Amino acid sequence: KPPNDTPPKKPSEIPSSQPAIFIPVDRSPDIQEARLKLPILAEEQVIMEAIKENPVVVLCGETGSGKTTQVPQFLYEAGYGSENDVIGITEPRRVAAIAMSQRVALEMNLPQSVISYQIRYEGNVSNETKTKFMTDGVLLKEIQKDFLLTRYRVVIIDEAHERSVYTDILIGLLSRIVPLRAKKGSPLKLIIMSATLRIEDFTENKRLFPVPPPVIKVDARQFPVTVHFNKRTPLEDYAGECYRKVCKIHRMLPAGGILIFLTGQAEVHSLCRRLRKTFPFCGRNYHNATEDEDSQEAVRRFKKSRPKKTMNLPKIDLASYSAQPLDEGDEDREAADDEEDGSGSDLDIDLGDEGAEEDEKADSSLPLFVLPLYSLLAPEKQAKVFRPPPPGTRLCVVATNVAETSLTIPGIKYVVDCGKVKKRYYDKVTGVSSFRVDWTSQASANQRAGRAGRTEPGHCYRLYSSAVFADFEQFSPPEITRRPVEDLVLQMKDLNIEKVVNFPFPTPPSADALIAAEELLISLGALQEPPKTGRLNDLQKAKLSSPITPLGKTMASFPVAPRYAKMLALGRQHECLPYVITIVAAMTVRELFEEVDRPAVSDEEKELLKGKKARVLQMQRIWAGQGSAQKLGDLMVMLGAVGACEYSGLEPKFCERNGLRFKAMLEIRRLRGQLTTTVNSLCPDTHLYLDSKMNPPTESQVTYLRQIVMSGLGDHIARRIRQEELLDEKWRNAYKTPLLEEPVFIHPNSALFRQLPDFVVYQEIMETTKMYMKGVSAIEAEWIPILLPQYCHFGNPLEDPPPFYCSETGRVKCHRPSTFYRVGWQLPAVVA
Ligand code: ADP
Ligand code: MG
Repeated sequence: KPPNDTPPKKPSEIPSSQPAIFIPVDRSPDIQEARLKLPILAEEQVIMEAIKENPVVVLCGETGSGKTTQVPQFLYEAGYGSENDVIGITEPRRVAAIAMSQRVALEMNLPQSVISYQIRYEGNVSNETKTKFMTDGVLLKEIQKDFLLTRYRVVIIDEAHERSVYTDILIGLLSRIVPLRAKKGSPLKLIIMSATLRIEDFTENKRLFPVPPPVIKVDARQFPVTVHFNKRTPLEDYAGECYRKVCKIHRMLPAGGILIFLTGQAEVHSLCRRLRKTFPFCGRNYHNATEDEDSQEAVRRFKKSRPKKTMNLPKIDLASYSAQPLDEGDEDREAADDEEDGSGSDLDIDLGDEGAEEDEKADSSLPLFVLPLYSLLAPEKQAKVFRPPPPGTRLCVVATNVAETSLTIPGIKYVVDCGKVKKRYYDKVTGVSSFRVDWTSQASANQRAGRAGRTEPGHCYRLYSSAVFADFEQFSPPEITRRPVEDLVLQMKDLNIEKVVNFPFPTPPSADALIAAEELLISLGALQEPPKTGRLNDLQKAKLSSPITPLGKTMASFPVAPRYAKMLALGRQHECLPYVITIVAAMTVRELFEEVDRPAVSDEEKELLKGKKARVLQMQRIWAGQGSAQKLGDLMVMLGAVGACEYSGLEPKFCERNGLRFKAMLEIRRLRGQLTTTVNSLCPDTHLYLDSKMNPPTESQVTYLRQIVMSGLGDHIARRIRQEELLDEKWRNAYKTPLLEEPVFIHPNSALFRQLPDFVVYQEIMETTKMYMKGVSAIEAEWIPILLPQYCHFGNPLEDPPPFYCSETGRVKCHRPSTFYRVGWQLPAVVA
């Protein structure tokens, strides 16, 4: 029964363990009507009973059933939120935290000072906040400050099926916090919400919850979705295939939004552009939202070039669009579609050769309202997908994985699924990362298909055959098993969880990853070195129980990766700290520059990108500084770019002109602010402030910066292969690193690409066509044994003639430092 139709219960009717309040909410009739359609509303009683009776509840239901928007409202109405007791909800994505807090505030007719959000750098939490949406990382930070989360009465972990690393850790930590709070007499309720996917990892994990929590399933009103597989084996050019499929859907099929799943931002933009050219839409300032350049360009072309029909397809007038899908009710055929790879599908029209040129010519009859959607898109632009498209147009959202479960886009009837997903892969030992586009999982593909059946029966067009689908893995493995975990291990040690192997992970990371993390943290000085050996022996590997050091504590207070935290901890000398903070912020945010190497869709765009690239390279040369400053390499460029951008007053125009990503610059500013505050709180005598007119570092400061940077990147040293050592052509201009067999190269976009210094440290290695080092700085060989003895393997000066080389032991082979000790070198001071 809808709660608003029943009068508030009198306090005497409410059992004592439930908050004795019913807080009325003043919702608009429209909202109330929309809510009543959500399946979760029928379950309110059951859900609230379960929460009342149990400390932990698992709630699962199809995406769109109303979990995220409604459960916080149920709790609010039942009095779980007050000034002192906040209802907390975590989301793995920032987009969702912001969008959902806004949506709930709107539905409840309450200001955002009451229904608030907090993401890494921004939020609108106030004294009045009663419901707080946040990213999972934010709650993890709060646990570090207040382990029992005393401010919270309820914590909801949303999107638990996504298995983001922080979500997993939070569930592990909360499984311990909940009993502790019960002991203290102020119980904390934990609600785990998930799509209907593999919840056994939470419910049947005895180490996590000795008493299995009750599971409440919400039956979603999901309309049938007809799945059409491609007949042919999957194509390499899935983006092109997507384009053709959307064109066909738009021309042939009745009204209803189209949602397309692609793998990345560049692909999304490129498809948006192609579709806008083919189906131009003239309502530029619709919804007060300025269309971006692309669509203005499309409008201009449209005006010039219409009307030219290129295809002999039945023309569908907008007015004649009916609400009936072509094959609704024809169940036999739907079943056949499933079985026979879509034969008989309404989209089985052979376009022949005509398809090839169509995107050059505008199709005048059918306006399509094309919107991109991906995580890095500005929030205002993201919000556009929730509004109805302009009258007489069809909504078409080109999205990455964000649309899979986090956000429900209204009015989608057709889903086009390329079947791929872009994932970051890490090599567990070397940490080399690469982005790979791979097949998604069956579970994800089914989630994607489900997006089509929210409001009426829908269709999902899979651009791969059913045989390929059958080979997909059932679920994607949780993130925690796929990435390095040194940051997590450091955070746990900081929470005094010394034996990380015993932590109740929903799915534990591999032993290799845990060992690599422990070893790295020992090398960085964040954990105590085990007696005698620098490396871990088998027993130590099994226990992994090195306690945290004071330096480690300092490092753990910075919200950045341990390698960078080490730089910050060493940065307080020779007035280098503002520069270190800037460099670390830039390395953490990544991708300062716009992507200029992407493939262009048209000749015009090609020219545009060429011009932009020339400009970016020119600016990078300027920012790289002069003389010895250049040795700081890419990090100097970062410093110069941030400095110049700040000097301009963080102007979007300045960024645009110089190929900088404005959003990245904004984030760097925020992170610099956050790091500065952290430093000031660690060392009260520091009084650092954010200086917008930062002078470039002096020559000696650059030298110190290079040393500070290398102290954090000790396991990322590379030595150039000299001409005389060259045995194999593949090693020309290549570098050798201690851990990798393969040659690595300085990335062509790097400031040091032509210099080729003898020794460098790098931020990361990305594998594309070759192994490329990014974020490269030159270092001096003789600094290595002094600053990084823990990474050295000291040889005999007489027996090992080359004084420095990277050995197979994973260390840099060199001679004892005494020979190189330089007068005037000051060992880095440590903050706090
Ligand atoms: P779940 O969390 O179970 O996936 P949600 O609570 O996110 O479901 O969504 C419930 C409903 O609210 C969906 O039908 C969705 O379309 C609608 N909705 C969510 N956010 C918005 C929004 N910003 N604008 C309009 N409708 C929205
Ligand atoms: Mg949700």
